[in-house]
Amino acid sequence: MSFNATLAAGATSLYDTLYGNTDLASLNWLERQWVAWYIWIGNPVIATGLASFLLHEIVYFGRCIPWIIIDAIPYFRKWKLQPAKVPTAQEQWECTKQVLFSHFTIELPAIWLFHPLAEAIGMSTYQVPLPSWQTMLPQIAFCFIFEDFFHFVAHQALHTGPLYKHIHKIHHKYSAPFGLAAEYAHPAEVFILGTGTIAGPLLYCYFMRDLHIFTVYVWITLRLFQAIDAHSGYDFPWSLQHILPFWSGAEHHDFHHMAFTNNFSTSFRWWDRIFGTDDKYREYRARVAAMKAKSASPKEFIEAEKRLMEEVEREGLVAEAEAESGGKRKSS
Ligand SMILES: [Zn+2]
Ligand SMILES: [Zn+2]
Repeated sequence: MSFNATLAAGATSLYDTLYGNTDLASLNWLERQWVAWYIWIGNPVIATGLASFLLHEIVYFGRCIPWIIIDAIPYFRKWKLQPAKVPTAQEQWECTKQVLFSHFTIELPAIWLFHPLAEAIGMSTYQVPLPSWQTMLPQIAFCFIFEDFFHFVAHQALHTGPLYKHIHKIHHKYSAPFGLAAEYAHPAEVFILGTGTIAGPLLYCYFMRDLHIFTVYVWITLRLFQAIDAHSGYDFPWSLQHILPFWSGAEHHDFHHMAFTNNFSTSFRWWDRIFGTDDKYREYRARVAAMKAKSASPKEFIEAEKRLMEEVEREGLVAEAEAESGGKRKSS
């Protein structure tokens, strides 16, 4: 939409209310679009709610598309963590329907409630200029660290007795996850774990009294990339975890789905490492490395790795049955 055309369309009174004191000439392109959006929609609550929902849908499905394409091309199979388990089109479609259902029933109302809450604690929404990257960087770092620890604790709780059986079991339908499965979960889980994503910005804003919703959008975008990539099922030589060794990535979370144990955090490896909830994962990696060193040919290694994966998955099924029955299993 054109900024000037929008202003000319008789929206000047709202403009005066929201932006009367803003120096237009100093705004960059993105900031002018930001202003035009709020003027065009004509109601800040609806403008923020709609922008938040659209951002989530566009980023979520937009980020899933490359993974759907990669799953359809056999060339990429050599980087698939569980190469024997490639999702079918039918599986991906079923997953999409469930994800859309929870987006509309849980996330849409939650996003709508977000604006009044955000305003009440002093978060900037329609205001311009937008924050600089120097302002956003520490705020986003806080969100990452907060969410990761929240998830580490809440995810372990979801692996116990009734919480697993009635809620988290849905997310564990796929022992070899794929991008779309990132948000494939019971609505209660979307709500519980979504709290970790949104409580960080809210707490930061409440205590620091300085946060723009644009920063929250950048954080949500990065968090969605993290979640979808962690479920992608692929570990490339250029994946982030090979550059940042403390980054979890797909290699870390794929094991959680395959083995039904260990690796409870989202973005970082440190909490699982400190609390020892990555013992089985590290043992598995060590066994794979030893196998690779011992194997006479790549074919022999692939066969041996496949047998090990089957063994780990069998143990995972036993652990899952124990968790479901509320057995006193160590939550590792
Ligand atoms: Zn889990
Ligand atoms: Zn998962």
